[in-house]
Parts: sequence; structure tokens; C-alpha cells
Amino acid sequence: MGKWQNILAASITSPEQLARRFGIDAEPLLRVVQRYPMRITPYYLNLINEPGDPLWRQCVPDARELEDDLQQEDPLREEILSPVPGLIHRYPDRVVWLVSSTCAVYCRFCMRKRQVGCVGAVTGKVQISAALDYIASRPEIRDVILSGGDPLLLDDDALEEILARLRQIPHLEIIRIGSRVPVTLPERITTRLCRMLKRYHPLYINTHFNHPLEITAESATACARLADAGIPLGNQTVLLKGVNDNPGVMKRLMQLLLKIRVKPYYIHQMDLVKGTGHFRTRVEQGLEIMESLRGHTSGMASPYYVIDLEGGKGKVPLLPDYVKRVGGNVLLVRNYRGEMVEYGDVD
Ligand SMILES: *Cc1c(COP(=O)(O)O)cnc(C)c1O
Ligand code: SF4
Repeated sequence: MGKWQNILAASITSPEQLARRFGIDAEPLLRVVQRYPMRITPYYLNLINEPGDPLWRQCVPDARELEDDLQQEDPLREEILSPVPGLIHRYPDRVVWLVSSTCAVYCRFCMRKRQVGCVGAVTGKVQISAALDYIASRPEIRDVILSGGDPLLLDDDALEEILARLRQIPHLEIIRIGSRVPVTLPERITTRLCRMLKRYHPLYINTHFNHPLEITAESATACARLADAGIPLGNQTVLLKGVNDNPGVMKRLMQLLLKIRVKPYYIHQMDLVKGTGHFRTRVEQGLEIMESLRGHTSGMASPYYVIDLEGGKGKVPLLPDYVKRVGGNVLLVRNYRGEMVEYGDVD
């Protein structure tokens, strides 16, 4: 085993371990982890300052996960929209491919909570071939997004096999990898991994920082290694109650991402996934955050704020109402200082 595998193996996975470290009562959490597993890497555990802080909330089980009866396990209908197991083909020219079912840290708000970290969701050789055959047989697919679980928890050889076989498909233009490993297990981003990845360009990585405290010397180094391998880095943040549902926190996060060469791509409204209801915020909160970014800091720090519609109907960007009135060929628009300004449109 390599070094990062050993570090991952030293993660904590039981409420008793948490109780010993933080002096909390493990009892209420035992039932939660039977349903939704926990894993917290040594690195991420060390970022927690105290119970209940923004990093704690993201990774420590909460009894409310089991009380959330209203919501659905798979509101986006990902399973129904799978042409072959592990592949989600919802948009005309791109697919999401779930190549891993494990993550370094199990996020309590995960939209794929029903399957991530659960036994039986492994990707076998047969499944890999079926997915590759599907992509190869559809010339309209020009973009493959490797997701999971976390694709970077595959070892280098397994990941390289997937990348190499994808690159044999002539119509495939770009490959994207979605990974939270730079945030939760930065030790995984080795120079060997980066040397391998750079052979499969154009390759993009979208990572997943949710709070300014996740930007550390270690995560900055991980991102720098990837960026130095020529990989453009984006970030997908989930808007989470009690973690980052605050304009000041979110603005600082976006600024610090740019500082470590990561371009904010999306802020996601929470999906209506069972077991995550206690993280949901109102859409107004997201719009207020978007208002606090545009104009007030670098335009590059403004991502899209998106909701993912139920039933697989797609992502939709939401914007504050900057256009107040449209009359004749004159628009009345609002700038970042709240001033209403006339804008003459063409006839
Ligand atoms: C989010 C998503 C994509 C990628 O969307 P982009 O807006 O291109 O980043 C593709 N397929 C599915 C099913 C998705 O949920
Ligand atoms: S890293 Fe992503 S897939 Fe894994 S638990 Fe977190 S949100 Fe879910």
C-alpha cells in the first residue's frame, strides 16, 4: 500500500472514536452510522476546532439524518436515467460516470447518500466495459464527467486504465473529474498521480470546498500540483445551513479559492435528498449571497448559483433580479450598489 492508502486506513469510522476525542455522547450516532456510514480522515479531523463547527457539521453524523421522512432517496431520478449501471446520460452531449462508490470523508449532505459508501455499489470490470461501450457508440457524447463517490480514491493504475480507454474514443473531447480529495485527503494528490493525469489532457478537475477553513497549506499544495500539471481547476460548493449560508463566509471562500488557483464554478442549492433536510436553506439566502459577490469582489469569484430540478430536468442558474423593468427599448437595471440605471437597448 502507498502512503495515502495508509493514511486513509487510519481514518475514524465510529462514533466511539469521536466520543473519545471530543467527549461527546456516541449513543445517538450509532443508529445513524448503521444507515449512512461515517469516515473522517486524520487530516480533516484535525481541521475541526470544536463540536458543531462548520467542518464538524459536514462530516459528523447527526440524529436528524434519520428523522427526515419527507424527502426522496433519488429525487433527480439518476437511477432511472441510467442507460447502463453507473452512467447518467441526462444532457445531449455529456454523461456522468460513477466510477467509485467510496469517498475519503462521507459528507453528511451528500446527494448520493443512498449509495455512497454502501457495500454492493462497486464498479466491476463488466460495468466498466459496458459504460465504455455505451460512450463509444454515441458520437454525440463529447464530455465525460467521472464522479462517484470519489474517482481519485481509485488507485493510479485503475484510474489510468479508465482514462486511457476513454482516450481511445475519437469523438470524446474533454474529460472531467469531480473529486473532494484535495479538501479531505490532500496527501492523495501525489506527484506521481499528477504525472499520470497530465497524459490525458484536455482534463479538467472540479473540486469541492465548502468553507474557508478548508483552505490550508496542505489543500493549497494539492491544488498547486494539479494546476502545475496543466489541469484547470474549478470548484463546486454546496450551500449548507450552518456551514456557509452567510455572504461574508461565502465571499471569503470564493476569494481564497482564486488564491489557490481554483475558479469557482457552481454554488449548488441543496437537492431534496432524504437524510439531508437539516442542511437546506431558502433560495433567497442563495440569491443574497450572489448579490454580495457580483461587483463587490473579483468577477472571477462569482460562480453560477444553480438548482438541480427534480426528475432529472436539469440544472438551472438563478440570478438576483438585476433587470427591474423592460419597457419599449429601455431597460431599468440595478447595479451592485443598488442604483437603478436606465440602459437603452437596440430597437
Ligand atoms: C451536473 C451534471 C452534468 C454536468 O453539467 P455541467 O453544467 O455541464 O457542468 C452532466 N450530467 C448530469 C447528470 C449532471 O447532473
Ligand atoms: S465527496 Fe461528494 S460523493 Fe463523496 S460523500 Fe462527499 S458529496 Fe458525496
